[in-house]
Amino acid sequence: MSDVLIVDDSPTDRAYFRTLLRRADFRVYEVETGGQAVAAAQAIRPHAVILDINLPDIDGHRVCRALRADPMISGIPVLMLTVRDHEADVLAGLEAGADDYVPKDAAPEVILARVRRLCRYRQMANTSLLNEQMAQIGRLLAGIVHEIRGPLGVIRGNAELMRMQLKPDDPAVRFADPIIRSVQLLQVRLEHLMATVRGGPPVLRPLELEPLLREAIDYFRKGSDPNQGHVELIVEPAKEALPPVRADAGRLLQVLLNLMTNAREAILAQSAQGTIRLRLAAQPDAKRPGVCIEVLDSGPGIPEDVLPRIFEPFFTTKDTGTGYGLYLSAEILQEHGGRLTVRNSPEGGACFSLWLPDSEAGGPPLGPTAPSTDPS
Ligand code: ADP
Repeated sequence: MSDVLIVDDSPTDRAYFRTLLRRADFRVYEVETGGQAVAAAQAIRPHAVILDINLPDIDGHRVCRALRADPMISGIPVLMLTVRDHEADVLAGLEAGADDYVPKDAAPEVILARVRRLCRYRQMANTSLLNEQMAQIGRLLAGIVHEIRGPLGVIRGNAELMRMQLKPDDPAVRFADPIIRSVQLLQVRLEHLMATVRGGPPVLRPLELEPLLREAIDYFRKGSDPNQGHVELIVEPAKEALPPVRADAGRLLQVLLNLMTNAREAILAQSAQGTIRLRLAAQPDAKRPGVCIEVLDSGPGIPEDVLPRIFEPFFTTKDTGTGYGLYLSAEILQEHGGRLTVRNSPEGGACFSLWLPDSEAGGPPLGPTAPSTDPS
């Protein structure tokens, strides 16, 4: 589902476009004045803006320029609503940075086709920007990781030696432990970052999933600061025999750590304690046999309006979020011929499902399918 922001002072026109777009499955946001448009675009980050030229406060051209001037929202496509045969307005709109224009009285199919096209551009631009950025980040990162690995090993080695010399009741233990934990976390993070950045196709090998889940929990525990709150981590093994799967252990681990990090943040944002469960089960659907790993948390769950967007690159609701953890995780599952889906569990928290195909089943693979919000 794509989000569209309508900027138009006429209630009748807004009602018309709202109905048209909602029927075509767009999520619609509206503002009446040019002055509200930039703030709304910054808050909503819609896939496209539909902008009336004649607004009571600032005209559409100035609004368009203001949108283009803010680097955080300058990539959002703008569709100008013009009056038929007003060529000067069209020209001024395009010069102000609008991507397309359409007369207000154009046929509804034409308006919808133009909005759809702009939303598609936006999604494609996000993805290619992300790939480009990842390649650049990768080159930089490879150099940095190389420089950091050595000193980090020395810090950890010496901190562990120091820790071994301390008696359990020594007050210095509470200073030494966070050093060791933080260094371990840094080492794990660096290795995972490098695994992501190295790119290339995943190395699929027969994989036992339960030990992998335990390893993920172990890494995660080492990297979590217990002073921030208590999150219990539980592995629930499969009740039945699992079919064999082939997977890239490093990349699956990365997905699990991403999901657990998000879960922990969601839990601790509302409470000092909670639970994350990693549940393993055979995937019962005979047409697409395989294995499902569920990551369930006891956090607040994902708001309904956020749910359809969380796999989009750069989508985040956090002040310091990057918004590509879930995008990357869904990509990794697709590379495995599987998929990543999400739903809110009836108990309240979020539930992410990692679906992996049975490596010996001759049937059609699970992917590549677009990540969906509902596995059913
Ligand atoms: P980031 O964590 O940097 O925001 P992600 O792609 O990992 O990026 O997540 C995107 C958004 O999905 C988050 O900002 C958050 O709103 C939502 N989200 C992800 N996992 C959870 C969860 N377990 N509970 C609630 N919301 C979640």
